[in-house]
Amino acid sequence: MIVCKFGGTSVADAEAIARTIEIIRSRVTRKPVVVVSALAHVTDALLDLARHSETAGADELDATVEALVERHEQVAQALPGCSAAIDAIAADAAELRRELAGARDRRLSPAECDVITSRGELWSSRLVAAGCVGAKLDAIWVDIRPIMVTDGRFTRATPYTQVVNKRARDQLQPLAEAGRIPVTQGFIGATATGVATTLGRGGSDFTATLLGAALGAKRVEIWTDVDGLMTADPRIVPSARTLAAASYEEAAELATFGARILHPATALPLVRAGIPIVILNSRHPERDGTTIGPEARIERMGDSPIRSISWKRRITVVNIRAPRMLGAYGFLRALFEVFERHEKVVDVLASGEVSISLTIEDSSGIDALVRDLGELGDVWIEEHRAIVAIVGIGLRNTPGLAARVFNSVWPANVEIISQGASAINMTFVVREEDGPDVVRRLHQEFFGSC
Ligand code: ADP
Ligand code: ASP
Ligand code: MG
Repeated sequence: MIVCKFGGTSVADAEAIARTIEIIRSRVTRKPVVVVSALAHVTDALLDLARHSETAGADELDATVEALVERHEQVAQALPGCSAAIDAIAADAAELRRELAGARDRRLSPAECDVITSRGELWSSRLVAAGCVGAKLDAIWVDIRPIMVTDGRFTRATPYTQVVNKRARDQLQPLAEAGRIPVTQGFIGATATGVATTLGRGGSDFTATLLGAALGAKRVEIWTDVDGLMTADPRIVPSARTLAAASYEEAAELATFGARILHPATALPLVRAGIPIVILNSRHPERDGTTIGPEARIERMGDSPIRSISWKRRITVVNIRAPRMLGAYGFLRALFEVFERHEKVVDVLASGEVSISLTIEDSSGIDALVRDLGELGDVWIEEHRAIVAIVGIGLRNTPGLAARVFNSVWPANVEIISQGASAINMTFVVREEDGPDVVRRLHQEFFGSC
C-alpha cells in the first residue's frame, strides 16, 4: 500500500486532474490511497470569503461563491463522469451562501472559518474521485472527517494519532486491500463530536503522512509542481538544484524555516517506522524526485556541507533585558510561561548574560505580550524581520562555517545567530527586505550559482 498526495497545482484544472488520474493509474498495483488538496488558490479564496463576510456586500459574496462553483463546474464538464460531483458541489455551495448570509454584521468564529475553508478539499476530492471512476478506475470518495479526529483548536487543529490510526485501519485499509482506490481530503478533520476543523495551511502533506503511518504504507508520495526538495526555493534562486535525498530531520528543519514545499509536521509520523517520503513533479512523473528517509539510508551528495537554504518572512524579534537574570534561576521558566500563556511559538532564541532575544511568527496580540513580559525586564520589539536557515547533516563536522556564512551575506546585517541543538542547521535573522538577496548570496557561496 502507498499514499499519494496531490497538491493544489496537481489538481488546478481539468488538464492537471487528467495527469493526476494517469499517475494514479500507474500506481494501481501498489494499492494507492489518494489524498488531495483543494484546487490551486481555492483555499485562499475561501479564506478571503470568511474574512470579508462581515464587510463585503451580499452581491459580492454571492459573486465570489458563484465564481468558485463555476471553476469546479468547468473542470467537471471537461472530465468524463463528473456530473454527479458537480451536483454535490452545487448543493454544498448553496449551504455556503446561507452560512455567509447568516453571518452578516459579525466576524466569523475560527470554527465557522474551518467549515468554510474545508470545502476546498471536499470539492476537489469529489472531482478527482469522479474523474477516476470516469477513467475506469475503481475509485471511491471517502470523507476523511470521521477518520481524522482532532482537538478543537480551530484553524490549526492537532489530530489524535491513536484514534486516526485505528479508524484509518478500519475504514481505509479494507478498501485498498480489496483493490479499490480511496480518494480523500487532505488538510481537514473534525472533532470527536463531528465539528469541522483544519490542520493549518499546507496541512495536506501532514494528512498524507499520518495516513501513511497508520496504514504502514511502503511510501508516501507528495506530488507537486517542482522536481523535489531543492537547494533553495526556485522562485528565489532560479538555478536551484533538486536533491536526490534528504533526512527526515533536514526536511523538518527546512519546512519549519519557510520551505513551503512541505508542511513542518510532515515527516513526524513516519520517523518511527522509517517510511520514506518521495517528492515528485506531477508534470514530469518520470523524474526521480527527492527521497526523504532515515539519515542512515541517505546518500551524501557532492561535498557541500549544506543541503539547502530556506527563509521565512514576517518575523518579529522580541528582546528582553533583565539585569536580575544574572545568576538567577527560574527566570527562563517565568519568561516561557508568558509565551505559553499567549500561545506564541518561539522559533529562534539567543541569550546573553542579562538579555535574551527570541523570534515569533505570529505577532497578533503583541501589545499584551509585551505588557506581560515587561514585568520581567525592559522589552523592545523589532518587526519586518526574516529568518534565514541553512540546513544539512554535513554542518555537524564543518569548522569555520559561520565565518563563511557571514562573509558571504555581507553587507546585510545579521542580527541573531543560532546553531540548532541538532547541529544540522544554522539560523540567523535579517531585515525582511534583505531576505531574498541573502538566500541568493548563500546559494552562490555553497552551490556556486544564484
Ligand atoms: P502544493 O500545492 O503541491 O502543496 P506548494 O506550493 O505548497 O505545493 O509547495 C511547492 C512550492 O514550494 C514550490 O513551487 C516552490 O516554490 C516552493 N519551495 C520553497 N522552498 C522550496 C525548496 N527548498 N525546494 C522546492 N520547492 C520549494
Ligand atoms: N488547501 C490547503 C492550503 O492551501 C492545504 C494544502 O494545500 O495542503 O493550505
Ligand atoms: Mg503544499
